[in-house]
Amino acid sequence: MSFLQLRGVEKWFGAQHAIRGIDLDIEPGEFVVFVGPSGCGKSTLLRLIAGLEGIDAGSLHLDGRDITTLPSAKRDLAMVFQSYALYPHMTVFDNMCFALKLAGADKATMRRKVERAAEILNLTHLLQRTPRELSGGQRQRVAIGRAIVRSPKVFLFDEPLSNLDAALRGQTRVEIAKLHRELGATTIYVTHDQVEAMTLADRVVVLRDGAIEQVGAPLALYDRPANQFVAQFIGMPQMNVLPAAALSQLQVIGGAQAPSDGYVGIRPEAVAVRSRGQAPIEAQVELVEALGADTLIHTAAAGGLQFVARQSERSPLRPGDAVAVALDPGALHFFDREGRALRA
Ligand code: ATP
Repeated sequence: MSFLQLRGVEKWFGAQHAIRGIDLDIEPGEFVVFVGPSGCGKSTLLRLIAGLEGIDAGSLHLDGRDITTLPSAKRDLAMVFQSYALYPHMTVFDNMCFALKLAGADKATMRRKVERAAEILNLTHLLQRTPRELSGGQRQRVAIGRAIVRSPKVFLFDEPLSNLDAALRGQTRVEIAKLHRELGATTIYVTHDQVEAMTLADRVVVLRDGAIEQVGAPLALYDRPANQFVAQFIGMPQMNVLPAAALSQLQVIGGAQAPSDGYVGIRPEAVAVRSRGQAPIEAQVELVEALGADTLIHTAAAGGLQFVARQSERSPLRPGDAVAVALDPGALHFFDREGRALRA
């Protein structure tokens, strides 16, 4: 049995079937990230594991023990939320040792654990402050510290960085990655953020409508998505997906490569924009987005086909310019009519 095992997990909210038959195995020390569109059930699944909601069918086992109906406090899990929920009148030190105090730990143990966590999270100089005297990022580190001192079997994070500005988000993300490398604790992390999912996860779980679409290492999902949904959910900007029939008409792909009623996908970095006549697909530039290191070129071809290209060079192109689009033939993804990936 795996370290954390979910079998046939179901959850209903009234008539709404929020979680549908989830089977999942998480190994000790793994960093697993739940992603999916808003409302797909990421937070609910995390809350079911935490025991903050009861499951309607199925089972949960942690470290060999059936925790399906065990109260949250007895599951030996620590959860870090998007809102830090620190005690405002207590110092950082007291906030961090609160759970240990409740558990009856002795003073020396508490001090040792809090000081160690503070060191890891770079909070040592802030231990005597109250939350009001901290920045948002520092507060979130205290919330993480409060979870660490408990040495739980599993850390659960529900969008912990979404209240932070972009710079702090990036910084705190790197800290969480280092923290995981140092502690090696089993972690489940819910996020909307692609970069967080791709950089933090050992494995990503892509959810849609309460069910798992695919589970895999970040780059495996990127390179070998199981279906069109995963292909377009993972990767920014998203994969270009076009009807196979339209592309074979343009003689960009051979007719045998994809069923005529299927779809062809290509990532923006595998699309090149050239001068007219230098590539098979005639198109017009619609928009150029210069991101600094990268440039995104949005183009439109005949028949309503649209291609987004990503290149590392800057571009002199402007909207309305006539161009030609080339697709890297080795980078095509093929999907059947239902959107399932076809493997070569
Ligand atoms: P987001 O990314 O927007 O936070 P999510 O993927 O975390 O979304 P959940 O919050 O898990 O999604 O919600 C899954 C579905 O269950 C949604 O349709 C939501 O409206 C519904 N839901 C969640 N909690 C409750 C509740 N307590 N009562 C009724 N419906 C709920």
